[in-house]
Amino acid sequence: MWLSAKVASLLIGFSMMLGVSSIGLAVAPVETASTMWKQQVDLRVQPARTYPGDVLFVRSKNARAVTLFQKTYNLIPSSGEYVRFIPVPIDTKPAVYPLQTADGKARTQVTVQPKTFAVDAITVSQQMNSMRQNTARINADQQKIYRARSTSAPVPYFEGAFVMPVQGRLTTPYGYQRVVNGKPESRHLAIDIANKEGTPVVASNNGKVVLAEPLYLTGNTIMIDHGLNLFSSYAHLSKLEVKPGQLVKKGQVIGRVGTTGFSTGPHLHYAMLIGNTFINPNPFFSASPYQWK
Ligand SMILES: [Zn+2]
Repeated sequence: MWLSAKVASLLIGFSMMLGVSSIGLAVAPVETASTMWKQQVDLRVQPARTYPGDVLFVRSKNARAVTLFQKTYNLIPSSGEYVRFIPVPIDTKPAVYPLQTADGKARTQVTVQPKTFAVDAITVSQQMNSMRQNTARINADQQKIYRARSTSAPVPYFEGAFVMPVQGRLTTPYGYQRVVNGKPESRHLAIDIANKEGTPVVASNNGKVVLAEPLYLTGNTIMIDHGLNLFSSYAHLSKLEVKPGQLVKKGQVIGRVGTTGFSTGPHLHYAMLIGNTFINPNPFFSASPYQWK
């Protein structure tokens, strides 16, 4: 179908009104407005404006790979489209980044906005601090963790927005720079929610338990595969109430708040990951990634 330039500009204006950030890549002068329109719907990123440490949900009707941050990512065929969660590295400089299909036929952009992460200083006993020197135990656990997250369902188990896994007081937000006994540590890539020992902890969304066992640093730990390489993790539990391989429903009790492992008091350390990359869990509590704006 041929469309006049005027209609084309109307369509572009319309898509801008809708907040659709995709634009057709005008590589050939013969390209018509109708092919531009097709390309506009061919590549979507949700949300188009993000922050370091967050995650993007990339979707396409027919593109099987995209490039972003100078890397190529294969998309996963899922429910009649191709999708993938792509983490925004926490050290990404605020800027506008091109996102395009690997064949260059459609492109859009991602705006990474500035974000400041606060500093959190804690003091732990020498004995507890020396716990972290047991690298053989830590490495053995890490192998188990990598194995648990090595595969993920190609379809989403999750439905709708995620729920907070426990009631309580948010003590350490995502991205805090930890200083332990005066020494800067790696960032806290999870949220800590404090409450009494024994408080029920629920699955933040539907999924399949891929790990449920005591680990050295994170104590009694549960990991859930939500599909599409998205995982949630629950640490320092006093009790595990699920088994690996078990399917769980959003809101189902999976364990109890505790202070097992490297922990200074009863709290839930809740993390979300794409594969082995930690991401900010907070956007998941507002809406399903399919609804992110
Ligand atoms: Zn924590």
